Amino acid sequence: MLAGREAGYSASVSTRTTAPEDRYTAQPFVPERGGLSGLREAAAGCRGCPLHRDATQTVFGAGSADARVMLVGEQPGDQEDRQGRPFVGPAGRLLDKALTEAGIDPGDAYVTNAVKHYKFTQAEPRKRRIHKAPTLREAAACGPWLAAELPSSGRN
Ligand code: SF4
Repeated sequence: MLAGREAGYSASVSTRTTAPEDRYTAQPFVPERGGLSGLREAAAGCRGCPLHRDATQTVFGAGSADARVMLVGEQPGDQEDRQGRPFVGPAGRLLDKALTEAGIDPGDAYVTNAVKHYKFTQAEPRKRRIHKAPTLREAAACGPWLAAELPSSGRN
């Protein structure tokens, strides 16, 4: 009996692998332990969706685990992406002012974004980067980070 090549055909094995970002979930990158600092460190290497490719860095939440309030924005902006901190620049100053007027010390707030990498469009290199809203799929992919930041997650 002839088999394989002798019979006029050959088997081919696919070597194509799925990149982590193609799975659209941050879950494999989220550590079970380590508190907020462990989460922040792990999030720096997240490849849970394609947004990490063009952004400068992960912008994780900032503030104390014992904060009185938690504020969640949509995604980092241009300045946040460059500085690596949420709510910096004019938006951050406005937020601090609003918190102070509400009787909350800005130092008592934990601030973060639902999506941790900056999404933008840019007509050409060196041109201004324009904010682009994340898709529902990207927001869902990043959801495990936000869930882990919540005090009720038991991780921080
Ligand atoms: S946006 Fe969120 S899920 Fe996507 S790579 Fe960044 S941290 Fe990971």
